[in-house]
Amino acid sequence: MTTDYRLVGIAWRLDRLRWVPREVLAEVVLRDGLCMWGWTEDEPAWQEERLTDQELAAVLCSGCPVQDECLELELRAAGLDTVGVWGALSEDNRRALYPHWRQRGERAEDGATP
Ligand code: SF4
Repeated sequence: MTTDYRLVGIAWRLDRLRWVPREVLAEVVLRDGLCMWGWTEDEPAWQEERLTDQELAAVLCSGCPVQDECLELELRAAGLDTVGVWGALSEDNRRALYPHWRQRGERAEDGATP
């Protein structure tokens, strides 16, 4: 099995959010997540296209300022049961990321103190 160093890098990057409580992550994502605001007038053209999850993640989450918070939140909330597009990754990519992320150590909800 080969190591996907892109995913290892993402897992390392998420370390900065290890001790952020889940409710704070949720608040930030709900407040600032691009997809949380919907599209009222000009619906994105890609909604008419058949995209793979990876393509949809790239388009939907492009420019979202809270990709890491969204990803950290989804990994904590759903783990390997994650579905859909969150944190600029497809569900397959998040499942592949999960063991690398878990290997980085405890998170705020694991009951440990920083
Ligand atoms: S990263 Fe993607 S799924 Fe998460 S809030 Fe931003 S746009 Fe939405």
